[in-house]
Amino acid sequence: MEIIKGDFIIIGSGLAGLSLALKLKNLGEVIVLTKKRVFDNATSLAQGGIACVLEEDNHFDLHRRDTEIAGDGLCDPEIVDLVIKKGPERIKDLLEWGVNFDRDPENPKRFHLTLEGGHSRKRVLHVGDYTGRAIENALIQRAVESPTISLLENHLAFELILEKGCSSDTCRVAGVYVIDLIKSQIKLFLAPVVAICTGGAGKAYLYTSNPDTATGDGIALAYEAGCRIANMEFIQFHPTCLYHPKAKNFLISEALRGEGGVLLNAEGKPFMHKYDPVRLELAPRDIVTRAIDMELKQSGAECVYLDITSLPSDYVKRRFPHIYETCLKYGIDITSQPIPVVPAAHYLCGGILTNCWGQTDIPNLFAVGECACTGLHGANRLASNSLLEAVVFSHQAYLRIKEDLALYKEWSIRLPTLKEPIIMDIKEEKVFISHNWDIIRKIMWDLVGIVRTTKMLEFALKRISLIRREIEENWNSVYLDLDVMELKFLSLVAELIVKSALQRRESRGTHYLLDYPKKDYNYQRYTILQKNF
Ligand SMILES: Cc1cc2nc3c(=O)[nH]c(=O)nc-3n(C[C@H](O)[C@H](O)[C@H](O)COP(=O)(O)OP(=O)(O)OC[C@H]3O[C@@H](n4cnc5c(N)ncnc54)[C@H](O)[C@@H]3O)c2cc1C
Repeated sequence: MEIIKGDFIIIGSGLAGLSLALKLKNLGEVIVLTKKRVFDNATSLAQGGIACVLEEDNHFDLHRRDTEIAGDGLCDPEIVDLVIKKGPERIKDLLEWGVNFDRDPENPKRFHLTLEGGHSRKRVLHVGDYTGRAIENALIQRAVESPTISLLENHLAFELILEKGCSSDTCRVAGVYVIDLIKSQIKLFLAPVVAICTGGAGKAYLYTSNPDTATGDGIALAYEAGCRIANMEFIQFHPTCLYHPKAKNFLISEALRGEGGVLLNAEGKPFMHKYDPVRLELAPRDIVTRAIDMELKQSGAECVYLDITSLPSDYVKRRFPHIYETCLKYGIDITSQPIPVVPAAHYLCGGILTNCWGQTDIPNLFAVGECACTGLHGANRLASNSLLEAVVFSHQAYLRIKEDLALYKEWSIRLPTLKEPIIMDIKEEKVFISHNWDIIRKIMWDLVGIVRTTKMLEFALKRISLIRREIEENWNSVYLDLDVMELKFLSLVAELIVKSALQRRESRGTHYLLDYPKKDYNYQRYTILQKNF
């Protein structure tokens, strides 16, 4: 088996992974592993922008308050404070790396700021309506230019290697097993520091805005290594994904509602006043999502509509070029027709529990970005706070790694006897794999979705556990096949979501339990799951 050594292994090439790589590049050799092409990730799909208080009259305290209101009482106030106050410095990093945020046409010295749901001020920086792509492209270019960063595409991390004799108190990570999907080979990567930056898990649901890469791999790896996983029940559903038989996972950005878009039911009537008479279309996402879900259930309609035809056509084309072009491709001219939309799984507020340095329960294992649970989002993420979180926490992790690097390098980690994975050919079994993928995603959508009940969750857990047992009995080895490996991660992560949801007997933020419709004020900030060894 090929063994490759570096100073830092980063799993994932979205904003979290690449910004951490760019920070660490002067401290040693950085290896970035990514399971598809470098830009296949959620970061590249982000449209709206990145929230940040840049000007005095925009107030840190108001951004803090908006974040905490959206988080419905579960945000960690110290983390909220840290992220919001460090934001401006991290925006400077992005500017230095070459991200050209849009300027205000009337005052080009200032950035053009936009408003999104749950924000009391315009504070979202953006690049047209393709902010994520602009950020990702700038960071890729910087990473490719750096002689100390190796970007390895089609490399799937599938197991963390822990120190021999690891116990939950003294565990350290030594590296990671990887499948090179092009060469069909297993490789072993070793380094004093490993960072998981693998993004979210939206693919656990039938309808999602997420890219195909969002199968929760890093969360599964960390769970199997004994780390605590927190708040997995808090899945944010985006209220507005394009509803069209040929459109796969296309998001209609929150910014359209920020600019005056109105939601209409199947009869063409506005309805948000019934659910949030003050904030209307700009209520936090969980409220808008449940309102749409209720309208759909009551009317039996397949979608609702988002109408921005009241805005000048030229402005819409200039402000939302990507959404305009994409909808037009599907025969919808958004300047003259309302857009058919439905909710879809969008963002995972929970994940691998980390401290304010992005450190997991294993001191030389870090987790940054959507795969982590830092305490920022609480029960529901405020729009455009996730790119901010990723870039702030990659800097926090960098500071801790820089401080402790000598120590990590001193540890002479005893490697376990390395196992040569068994590789099996599964061509004729492919149908079982795709079948299980489909069943899990449907169970999650139908039973662990926008509105839940304990009975639905218990039923879902039984069915998912059965599928997990079947996977363990039949596909327990390592396969040189992305679908099989992702199914293993996805099924575990689906189980963690259901188990967390069953732990939280209250309705809060994105977790809405019909049989416990109220908040429990003796709340716990985190629901925790940890593997017993
Ligand atoms: C459509 C859409 C629009 C959004 N809009 C906004 C917005 O406007 N503002 C905002 O703040 N947030 C937005 N978000 C959320 C935000 O984009 C994500 O939370 C953020 O980009 C996550 O960054 P990340 O680096 O953690 O993960 P990602 O960008 O998803 O990167 C994860 C990387 O890990 C890799 N990976 C995963 N598993 C493995 C493995 N086993 N081995 C190797 N590599 C692996 C993937 O291939 C990928 O490269 C949006 C999300 C979506 C889906």
